[in-house]
Amino acid sequence: MPEQYADIIVDISHEKLDRPFQYRVPAALRDRLEPGMCVEVPFGNGNRRLKGYVLRVGTECAFDPARTKEILQIAEKDADATGKLVELAAWMRRQYGSTMIQALKTVLPAKRSVQKLSHKYVRILMNREELRSLLGESMRRKQTAKVRLLTALLEQSSEQELQPIPYAWIVGKLHVSASTVNSLVKAGAIQVLSTEEYRNPVRIAGGKAPERNRLSEDQQTIVDTVLADFDRGDKKCYLLHGITGSGKTEVYMALIEAVVERGYQAIVLIPEIALTYQTLMRFYGRFGDRVSVINSNLSAGEKYDQCERAKRGEIDVIIGPRSALFTPFARIGLIVMDEEHEGSYKSENAPKYHAREVAIRLAKLHGASVLFGSATPSLEAYAKAEQGEYQLFTLTKRLTGGTLPHVSVVDLRQELASGNRSIFSMRLQTLLADRLQKGQQSMLFLNRRGYAGFVSCRGCGYVMKCPHCDVSLSEHGNGRLMCHYCGYSAPKPKVCPSCGSKYILGFRAGTQQIEEKLRELFPTARILRMDRDTTRTKDSYTQILSAFANEEADVLIGTQMIVKGHDFPKVTLVGVLAADLSLSAGDFRSGERTFQLLTQAVGRAGRGSLPGEAVIQTYQPEHYAITYAAAQDYEGFYREELLYRELGGYPPAAHMLAVQVFSGEEQAGMQLAGRLAAQIDKSQVQVLGPAPATIGKLNDVYRTVLYVKSADYAKLIQVKDVLEAYAAAHAEEKEQVQFDFDPMNCI
Ligand code: ADP
Ligand code: ZN
Ligand code: ZN
Repeated sequence: MPEQYADIIVDISHEKLDRPFQYRVPAALRDRLEPGMCVEVPFGNGNRRLKGYVLRVGTECAFDPARTKEILQIAEKDADATGKLVELAAWMRRQYGSTMIQALKTVLPAKRSVQKLSHKYVRILMNREELRSLLGESMRRKQTAKVRLLTALLEQSSEQELQPIPYAWIVGKLHVSASTVNSLVKAGAIQVLSTEEYRNPVRIAGGKAPERNRLSEDQQTIVDTVLADFDRGDKKCYLLHGITGSGKTEVYMALIEAVVERGYQAIVLIPEIALTYQTLMRFYGRFGDRVSVINSNLSAGEKYDQCERAKRGEIDVIIGPRSALFTPFARIGLIVMDEEHEGSYKSENAPKYHAREVAIRLAKLHGASVLFGSATPSLEAYAKAEQGEYQLFTLTKRLTGGTLPHVSVVDLRQELASGNRSIFSMRLQTLLADRLQKGQQSMLFLNRRGYAGFVSCRGCGYVMKCPHCDVSLSEHGNGRLMCHYCGYSAPKPKVCPSCGSKYILGFRAGTQQIEEKLRELFPTARILRMDRDTTRTKDSYTQILSAFANEEADVLIGTQMIVKGHDFPKVTLVGVLAADLSLSAGDFRSGERTFQLLTQAVGRAGRGSLPGEAVIQTYQPEHYAITYAAAQDYEGFYREELLYRELGGYPPAAHMLAVQVFSGEEQAGMQLAGRLAAQIDKSQVQVLGPAPATIGKLNDVYRTVLYVKSADYAKLIQVKDVLEAYAAAHAEEKEQVQFDFDPMNCI
């Protein structure tokens, strides 16, 4: 048997990971060591023994074998926060495919120039009128950072109780520098308070503690049930299915408070785009300086600082995106994951983990409870709830008033038949005119997400689909249509195979074109547009939303960016211009995504006291994702979608592993993918492809993808292990193989 050597990392910090030491594996431990294991090794001269972690095991010795020292023994696992994170990384490496170093780098904070971000708060000293005039002045001078800060302050000052604003939020989320803050201090608009002055944010503002909402009976039942389980030592996973505004966040906060009282910490995951200022202030109001927020705008140093505070026990609650899972808390009691269905919970870098699964794993390591929440739960989560793996709770009533809007579905085929070639149906035109006349606001929404150039007939709605995969075919540059799962391809037809119409084409309207057409139709309407083009600069996103909230425009046109976050009480009309765009993306999740987007979009109308109305335009009015979204019927949608997943063998009915091959040469990439496919035992799993990826070439790198399907996740892990080993041994330097389990997007 050949000798084995292991790369051991003795100083477990993000920066030292690339400098492992090699040790010989003693005979007794041969074939027993796995990446992530904790071992004892001799270190330096003399008899120092250190604990280290295994990164990799191989048969090659990079140095002189005679002088390579031997591992002493397998050590006890470290039970502290870092030890648990290493254990989590080892699990992630195996579960999702990556090197141990990549996995460790994902969970350990990078220490770079630590810039102390002390806990400071900003308190507003001016009244609304004074703030307004200052804002006007800054706008004239085009001081964008100042405008941003003043807009946020104004928003805040419209609340009844003024609360100090956390400084970290101002620099982090608003991207406002210290000098801008100082200029407002000089102008007498605000005051900066330090932690010492700040104990209770409400007391500082001279108000009294905000009235706690008495939990509704339904909310209280949920809280009581979870806590009873918790106190019994029964740490479970729960799924809270509740429409927007049904009081989910209030439930989260009550549970977090209870868990913190018992001496544990809590992690709250919220997709960054959904973490509004109001939500954040509710957490600050409740937990004061025991809560901290991380977001992608924080520098590495600031993130490191937050981790240090967590280690020192200075905070009990962390709020953030998926990476907040890796906050080094000693005793996690509860992990909350809001908007559980969001795609941003899946990492796009190896290891390509899903925060939902990692949260459950982490909770196991700590003995914590997990609570998922969503208005439109993912098929995965809802299926687990049905199988009893998660306990399901539902909240069905909106607590803030407002009524669910009336929804009408417009058949675009009939519009065409009756001679209306405009992108606005007659119904939408009538309602837009009505809202403009009444001075109410409208939102027009183009759901381009996942749009991959599908081809459909404008005469009859027929969509070209893959005969093997039941997903839409996408148009390629060479005039052919292709399936991105299996590689099936066919020439693009000249006329519709179903009705013979020559109006068979990809849907090309963009938001800019919609804006132009709308201006032609309503020349006096004040229109704002939000898409990738208008939000290039950091502040434009907030600026457009604030302008619309301040009623500086009648209509907001946008992509899916506009359906989340802000509440606009004056919006009484929502128009979805082409529901088909997301419906026919060549992706098995396109029905689910459409249902979620439509549900969110429709829910934007009628948040205030005025009743709302929504119009969904589509070529496929009979499609279940559309009819159930129009009826706001999640259960109905879930049943039908699950059937589709079962028939197609898609998650959650089965599992799917995407094997991505990156290569500088098209031929070589395709060949490597072919050789990888040949390694797979096809009696165990189903193999699709290889086929060019949706984006077949990016930055001169060719991308090929291979899909492997099985009902048994463990089988896919075996395939991954085989392919990982093959790629390590046979792939060229410039070729790369990556793995994506149950991918969120068509790759
Ligand atoms: P979700 O997270 O489901 O969108 P929230 O928890 O944010 O719902 O609640 C929506 C609104 O209802 C908030 O303004 C909140 O203050 C209010 N609210 C929540 N629970 C109650 C309650 N028990 N009584 C009165 N108002 C409540
Ligand atoms: Zn047709
Ligand atoms: Zn196919």
